[in-house]
Amino acid sequence: MSRRVLVIGADGASPELIFAWANGGLLPAFRGLMEKGVRGRLTSTVPPHSGPAWISAITGKNPGKHGVFYFTTVNPRRAPPRIVSSRDIRTETMFDVAGRNGKRSIVVNVPITYPPWKINGVMVSGMFTPSKDVVFTSPPEVGPELVAKGYEVEFSTWDTWKENRRLVSKDEPPDELSRIRRDYFNGTLATDEKTVNAFIGLLQDKDWDLAMVMIPGLDRVQHFLWQPMAPGEAHPAAKEFGCSRFVIEAYQNVDRLVKKILSVVDSDVWVVFLSDHGFGPTPRIFYVNRWLRSQGLLTPAKQGSIYKRGLKKLRRFSQGIGGKPTDESVPAMHNLLPLSSIDMYLTKAYSPTPYGLVDVNVDTPEGRRVLAGSLANRFEEIVDARSGKRVIRRAYLSSEIYPGPCQEEASDLVLEPEPDYHVENRVDGTEAFADATTHPALHKPEGVLFVSGPQSREGLELQSAHIYDVAPTILTILGVPLPKDIDGKTLAMAFRPDGPIAMEETKRGETRAESKEISDRVKRLKDEGKF
Ligand SMILES: [Zn+2]
Repeated sequence: MSRRVLVIGADGASPELIFAWANGGLLPAFRGLMEKGVRGRLTSTVPPHSGPAWISAITGKNPGKHGVFYFTTVNPRRAPPRIVSSRDIRTETMFDVAGRNGKRSIVVNVPITYPPWKINGVMVSGMFTPSKDVVFTSPPEVGPELVAKGYEVEFSTWDTWKENRRLVSKDEPPDELSRIRRDYFNGTLATDEKTVNAFIGLLQDKDWDLAMVMIPGLDRVQHFLWQPMAPGEAHPAAKEFGCSRFVIEAYQNVDRLVKKILSVVDSDVWVVFLSDHGFGPTPRIFYVNRWLRSQGLLTPAKQGSIYKRGLKKLRRFSQGIGGKPTDESVPAMHNLLPLSSIDMYLTKAYSPTPYGLVDVNVDTPEGRRVLAGSLANRFEEIVDARSGKRVIRRAYLSSEIYPGPCQEEASDLVLEPEPDYHVENRVDGTEAFADATTHPALHKPEGVLFVSGPQSREGLELQSAHIYDVAPTILTILGVPLPKDIDGKTLAMAFRPDGPIAMEETKRGETRAESKEISDRVKRLKDEGKF
């Protein structure tokens, strides 16, 4: 029986859309995965952001253990914000664990894997690879071979980001808007195709036990093209979700890419498909910094010397990405709050990023703890006067969601909004709430997971799968022992109870119980002074 695992990630693939369209016959490859194995919703990290989520998926650990909380560092009390890189991942990934156990991996385009590091196999680094002129593969000689076959390193620049803003602009003439939206869609899909082709080439050329590719296009298309805005963007099957035909066609494209990848691997290989978070409309925006200002906890800076100093700093850390670094590039690309826009002496709490990360700016640890605790309660009581409904479902303290050696690098509070809300970090303006305009659809807290293979259960829907469970489940299929400090659990429900993997799991469970019993007994003897 094969214990090899093929992992296909798709950024932002939403369970609602996939299940509905697979059942409706529009996504035959996903329909096949559904029938052949198990599937379910996959709870993402808090916040459901690609940076922490993908790194949790490949480590099986919470961000407090792996050290990635966003696309940038988030705690300015420790260091000025900068884009994260693979050096920020402070723990082993499943590829390292597999490698230690003699298993070979192929890894293509997983975010934050630049610079690539040496694994037992091949790594092609993903999102935030600064340019095509750097070494983006390990071993290094693989890069030029891929480029010769048409591979393109995908990297974001400030210029492309600025261009993207036009995609949701109501000021563009309709024809021009149609054209740039169609071009963007085609360009995004073409890049995905090249990524998958490179992956397929490696699958065919190299020996592997674990292979993973991440396909980013769905996230981009949903961010910018969700809402039908130009003529011809409607689709009957997309109506129910209020999205454009671009969205449905992007899912169909991923379905086709999945089929294409599956066609080159043995039929008994295990297949894991996952996304880092879901997607959906967020009609209302909560401007957390404006709210903090209304509570007397945040004071904006007067434009001037502090502002200038801030710009200099930003220019320095924007050098890390491709394209012309400009005064606003890093903050604008990641909607980071330029710290120079608030008066740090008078501000007690502020949100540096979207997605509800909140820093408490108080000197003493005790003072920070007390203010964070009382703020958590106040956030959970906020009501949007228009709907009369609560806005923040949970305000988490970092100690609650990020236990681990990197917890101090996290924000003090993380807000999980109710489904209709997105938390933004603008400081200017006064209204704490507004209707969404430019970003009609955003990340949702549940991604999707499919697992199928020679011993998987068939047609079953998994309950309560968490993104931390992905790596341990994959390592279990590979037959590799799990790291002791892993947070996730093997999704035992995915396996047929009479198959060898399930039996091994049961045995391991018994061994764990036995060793616990022995250590308890030793402790008792010690307590009684007999040892
Ligand atoms: Zn994502």
